[in-house]
Amino acid sequence: MTQWVYGFGAGRNEGRADMRNLLGGKGANLAEMASIGLPVPPGFTITTEVCTHYTKNKGQYPTELDAQVQAALARIEDAVGAKFGDSDNPLLVSVRSGARVSMPGMMDTVLNLGLNDVTVEGLAKASGDQRFAWDSYRRFIQMFGSVVLGVDHHRFEEIIDEAKMAAGATEDTQLSSDDWRRVADEYKHMVQQVTGNPFPQEPTAQLWAAIGAVFGSWMNQRAITYRRLHDIPEEWGTAVNVQAMVFGNMGGDCATGVCFTRDPSTGENIFYGEYLINAQGEDVVAGIRTPQPMSSLKAKPGERSMEEAMPQAYAELVAVRATLEKHYADMQDIEFTVQRNKLYMLQTRNGKRTAAASLKIAVDMAEEGLIDRKEAVKRVNPSALDQLLHPTLDPSAPRKLLGRGLPASPGAACGVVVFSADEAEARAAKGEAVILVRIETSPEDIHGMHAARGILTTRGGMTSHAAVVARGMGRPCVAGAGGVVVDYSAQALSAGGVTVQAGGTITLDGATGEIFAGSVAMIEPKMSGDFATLMTWADEVRRMKVRTNAETPLDAETARKFGAEGIGLCRTEHMFFDPERIGAVRQMIMSETEGGRRDALAKLLPFQRKDFEDLFRIMAGLPVTIRLLDPPLHEFLPHKDEEMAEVAESLGADVQTMRRRAADLAEANPMLGHRGCRLGITYPEITEMQARAIFEAAVTIAKETGKAPVPEVMVPLVMTRKELEICRAQIEKVAEQVFAETGTTIEYMIGTMIELPRAAITADKIAECADFFSFGTNDLTQTTFGLSRDDAGKFLPLYVEKGILPKDPFVSIDIEGVGALVQTASEKGRKVKNALKLGICGEHGGDPASISFCESVGLDYVSCSPYRVPVARLAAAQAALSGGGDRTA
Ligand code: PEP
Ligand code: MG
Repeated sequence: MTQWVYGFGAGRNEGRADMRNLLGGKGANLAEMASIGLPVPPGFTITTEVCTHYTKNKGQYPTELDAQVQAALARIEDAVGAKFGDSDNPLLVSVRSGARVSMPGMMDTVLNLGLNDVTVEGLAKASGDQRFAWDSYRRFIQMFGSVVLGVDHHRFEEIIDEAKMAAGATEDTQLSSDDWRRVADEYKHMVQQVTGNPFPQEPTAQLWAAIGAVFGSWMNQRAITYRRLHDIPEEWGTAVNVQAMVFGNMGGDCATGVCFTRDPSTGENIFYGEYLINAQGEDVVAGIRTPQPMSSLKAKPGERSMEEAMPQAYAELVAVRATLEKHYADMQDIEFTVQRNKLYMLQTRNGKRTAAASLKIAVDMAEEGLIDRKEAVKRVNPSALDQLLHPTLDPSAPRKLLGRGLPASPGAACGVVVFSADEAEARAAKGEAVILVRIETSPEDIHGMHAARGILTTRGGMTSHAAVVARGMGRPCVAGAGGVVVDYSAQALSAGGVTVQAGGTITLDGATGEIFAGSVAMIEPKMSGDFATLMTWADEVRRMKVRTNAETPLDAETARKFGAEGIGLCRTEHMFFDPERIGAVRQMIMSETEGGRRDALAKLLPFQRKDFEDLFRIMAGLPVTIRLLDPPLHEFLPHKDEEMAEVAESLGADVQTMRRRAADLAEANPMLGHRGCRLGITYPEITEMQARAIFEAAVTIAKETGKAPVPEVMVPLVMTRKELEICRAQIEKVAEQVFAETGTTIEYMIGTMIELPRAAITADKIAECADFFSFGTNDLTQTTFGLSRDDAGKFLPLYVEKGILPKDPFVSIDIEGVGALVQTASEKGRKVKNALKLGICGEHGGDPASISFCESVGLDYVSCSPYRVPVARLAAAQAALSGGGDRTA
């Protein structure tokens, strides 16, 4: 016979904490608490399987259920010494729902079930308190009426308000037993009017109606919506918990409370929570009376802590707190009641907490010996670390939402709106906080992005230029905010019916993608010693290395501070935009002859060499991967007429020629055009200059420090082995020249990005002439899906919302498609070359789920923007601990 009902308390515990699938979280933990000797009022749990049966069979219960419930109820009666429905000493019970995970939207709680016109007198006699009995009865009618019978709760409140008015009372506590008796009568009358039936008097009928309401609520619209939003399957079902009542509202020696075993916002090891003397359940959260703090340490002047008011029960609770933390080895969120100075536990579960608290609690618990270091590493959500590294909006600050975009780079920023990079730079130089607002950004805007506190774009996705660059710089960014209209000529943006002119203030939340009018108060991040401690523990278990994507000394230094173990991607094109260099870059592009191009490149060489020297010096012996020029050349030319004229003049060229060249270079599908290694193959002098700068810099640093860097020269956008062969030969030739000229030879590597499906599929061929592969999963996602990185923002959110794609594939790697290519390329590459070094440098290198995938494929390192380095260190450690990460889609 199937067991549908599991008893707990009073010496019979049929459940355990690990039975939450069957008993729900609440039921499993009640049984667990009872089994470790904590004071839990006796009760029973009706399993989630009954819910499934009930849903499938349109409200029918399994045949054995009735008998099992009766037997379980009889056991409670024996344990408590009271009888359900007894006119002298009635047993009262609570009925609560309890799914596997806590789920708002379900039927909540009915207390005092078993009361009726007769048993209320019995309760009065047994407790010796008329007022308590009638207050309990009216509470029962109110809860049962609203949650089981569906009567609008306002109807009950109106009756209480009238009763208070009639009695000249302002507080519920001022009402007498006669007042409550009248309220109960009026409630019953009103319920009959609304439902057409008398209020049920028979306790067993009340019980089954409440049980049915819990199971029925599993399929109500709110619960269905909540499940859809949180990926909770319908098959899980909910359990029902029926438990003997204990009363926190029987007088001054009674209380009820809700608390956390540690402070859930800071993680401090202090009993944190609220209690109310002479109150029942809902009173603590209902806000009718002001709850008081648990610990005297938390009491403000005028407050009376439980520690002070009820020392005996408090001491018992402190002991329970220690037992629970030791048993569950985690911070607990508990509910309790004190009845006549005796403590009863009504619930425990792992408590929700902020990122800061989760870090502190994990480290403290490991140091207290409650968990080991590996467990501490597993306990902190890597994505939550972002919150600790950036300013965040003060949750209590008022705000007015203007619009939303993609949460492209975390952190909050507030400043005046500017619409051009130059203006951003100029105003920032005067000490103003600015937000750079653009329809989209391009490499030309980098100086303005750097000067700005935050960046807002109305086009582009999570790997658009703005998003990638902002993350690299640690600037908060909201990208692709399609609902915001930017009018450059009017120097204004409009969103949500509001227009903000240049110079007006807005606030961005890069973690949520929200845009607010005016300034919203912020909280500065505090990096605690716990952060460093947890990172050290993570590093002890991590297998994959963590590098950074960086090209400026500032970014490289920031990344080192965050623990980066080298550079995985230096995008050299970002070094071309500096005002001192862009002229030479443009001169090179405008030259019709190789000689002309070489002259221009000769001007760039010293700059590039210095850039690489700086990076090698900062990275002191760590690997540095330098990627040869990647973007199509038109990105370096001006686009507007007046700029064209200016640039033409400075280059001694005429505007016509300039326009013609720009038209020649224009591409319909730029990211599939003349870019990547295709540039170096058509203009070998570009590769030669860059290779020379790399090797000369490496030799200089080797001589200066005595420690030679090992440059890794990376060829972008390779689609065939032949391309890499050609580029490799070019690079090797320059290396030999530099070594001969300087009399110094250093070690180096030549490898390629794998960012085209063809390259992944033919990786065995390509590996024959590569020392390493770095997966450029931004382009690989773009080319695998045929989905433009810069245009997908317009419709991708809808795809995710409709479930066509489970997540934005530019944020978290598409394991099924792009991941399969990464895996194929890794396997094919390693088959040819066992020691082939494998890494990832697309934006996925900083995303915890993608990092877990990288571990499963056996990559050697991940590379991400500087501010994500700690996130990646922790995620890589967790992936190692979970034994190879997640390979499933
Ligand atoms: C990539 O494509 O994943 C990559 C790292 O290169 P970029 O983003 O510069 O195209
Ligand atoms: Mg790329």
